[in-house]
Amino acid sequence: MSPAFSLCVYCGSRPGLEPAYAQAARLVGRWIAANRGQLVYGGGHNGLMGMMADACLEAGGRVVGVIPKALVEKEWAHTGCSELHVVENMHERKQLMAERADAFLALPGGIGTFEEFFEVWTWRQLGYHDKPVGLLNINGYYDSLLAFLASAVKQGFMSRWQMELVQSESDLERLLKSLISQAGMASEKKQLDRF
Ligand code: AMP
Repeated sequence: MSPAFSLCVYCGSRPGLEPAYAQAARLVGRWIAANRGQLVYGGGHNGLMGMMADACLEAGGRVVGVIPKALVEKEWAHTGCSELHVVENMHERKQLMAERADAFLALPGGIGTFEEFFEVWTWRQLGYHDKPVGLLNINGYYDSLLAFLASAVKQGFMSRWQMELVQSESDLERLLKSLISQAGMASEKKQLDRF
């Protein structure tokens, strides 16, 4: 049976210092499984990435991992994934993850997470895709980034509509439901557009 949705999640290859991050990563994994969805992620077993994938698999969910061959050892590729794709490089990883996703979500993480999140956001504003993009602001982790982005709007380097392309939320369940329902609406619209 095909999954109800595919959610691509970017998050830290480290666990972070506060237990709230690990807890959120595990909840995301379990929520995807409980709602018969599929997790698409970077395929590693380290940090939040590994915890989220393990939680999803343990709860009976489907997990698609995509990892560049150079990182198979460094990021400890997750051999328990339902599908593990070992690709040539980072560009192929990001492209395949984006293709397999109905929606994107960033959890707390480091520069890899930031880069992936900003890329799918900028692709959205350029019209390369129309998939929803979310930012989970657990424990106020992204408060200072959001404040900086608000100042970029104030200083005239960004538009409000660009900001509105990202949903940032501290309530995990509300954000997940909203992303999945928007992804569903976008795909229904595409099907209608064909007629
Ligand atoms: P981090 O948030 O830095 O812990 O990294 C999270 C994930 O992002 C890891 O799987 C990294 O391999 C990945 N990553 C690091 N750099 C990049 C990049 N330039 N593009 C895409 N992913 C990256």
